[in-house]
Amino acid sequence: MLALTAKALYTPIEKIEHPLLLIQDGSILKVSSRAASEAPAKCRVQDFGDCTLAPGLVDIHTHGAAGFDLMQADANGLGKIEGFLARHGVTSYFPTTVTAPMDTTLAALDRLAAEIESSNSHGQRAEPLGIHIEGPFLSHTRRGMHPLQDLQKPTLAAFEKLWQAARGHIRVMTIAPELDGALEVISEATKRGVCFSIGHSDADLDQARKGVAAGARHATHAFNAMRPLDHRDPGILGEVMTNPGLSAEIIADGIHVHPIVIQIATRAKGVEGTVLITDATAATGMPEGRYQLGSVEIEVKDGMCMHEGTLAGSVLTLERAVRNVMSFAQWELQHAVRAATLNPAKTAGARNKGLLQPGADADLVVLTGSGEVKATIIKGVLVL
Ligand SMILES: [Zn+2]
Repeated sequence: MLALTAKALYTPIEKIEHPLLLIQDGSILKVSSRAASEAPAKCRVQDFGDCTLAPGLVDIHTHGAAGFDLMQADANGLGKIEGFLARHGVTSYFPTTVTAPMDTTLAALDRLAAEIESSNSHGQRAEPLGIHIEGPFLSHTRRGMHPLQDLQKPTLAAFEKLWQAARGHIRVMTIAPELDGALEVISEATKRGVCFSIGHSDADLDQARKGVAAGARHATHAFNAMRPLDHRDPGILGEVMTNPGLSAEIIADGIHVHPIVIQIATRAKGVEGTVLITDATAATGMPEGRYQLGSVEIEVKDGMCMHEGTLAGSVLTLERAVRNVMSFAQWELQHAVRAATLNPAKTAGARNKGLLQPGADADLVVLTGSGEVKATIIKGVLVL
């Protein structure tokens, strides 16, 4: 048995001063304060001093890191990405595809499914829990970097192909609800436990509401690749910002969304509805230059990833997103942590993640007061 202690702990719903967290066989046995209970005899105690214990970060929208793209990475590349994530506080993630030729997508889904099925044995690496599939059911006008020729009309037959290739590991799917056939795909696939996320969309308010009525409960990178908010034509963002039944992703790198708009969005969605994501690419953690994002090439300069004059992903890490939202939205660390742990875990249906409570996996991040990652713990094992 292992006992962890520090200055504070965020569950993240609650804050516990001078906590004591007991770990056995990779799971959390007990969470309390040191005043309330003592470490059992013969238990190894690890003291993280002035730091704060929090759940490990969960990224539900990432395309790669450390020079590798998740659409193409082989076992070695996946190991590099997952090692990089773990060193940056991420203990679980949802590998995210981009729109590509169908055969390329099906091959990527097969590879990612295999990684998910074997990830239990890896240790010391962020764990892939399920796939976020971004495309091919996206709006032509709001497609961003997703290649026009590979976009498809939503049909149950096309969804079924993707589902089979992924062997049922699709957990999140971005979809433009205004497309013909989208509502049928949303309502059918929601029954399989897929979280539908409206995005890459030119939907007006009514079309967005129909998507939500069909089962959508999340929004992909709010403000980016969406019909803009207009005071007489609020569109999809009007629904995303006001419906508490939808959580919303925000790319808090200060490039994709202006810090003031992040303040507006976080006030609208609140501490419970904001989901910090990275939308990271292979270029994350690498020198500037050219990198692959699915089947397209991106150029990274001055911290921006570009493809044919449009923003194409980021070089953001989730730990930096946590610190950024503290400064952009004047959020305290506990709230920023919640938006990168419990909220994404809930959205993607990741049980046993994102919340420090008995029975949950012992996935933790050790943070300084300003949100720097000091250490990461995956299933009770310290990542070096
Ligand atoms: Zn993306």
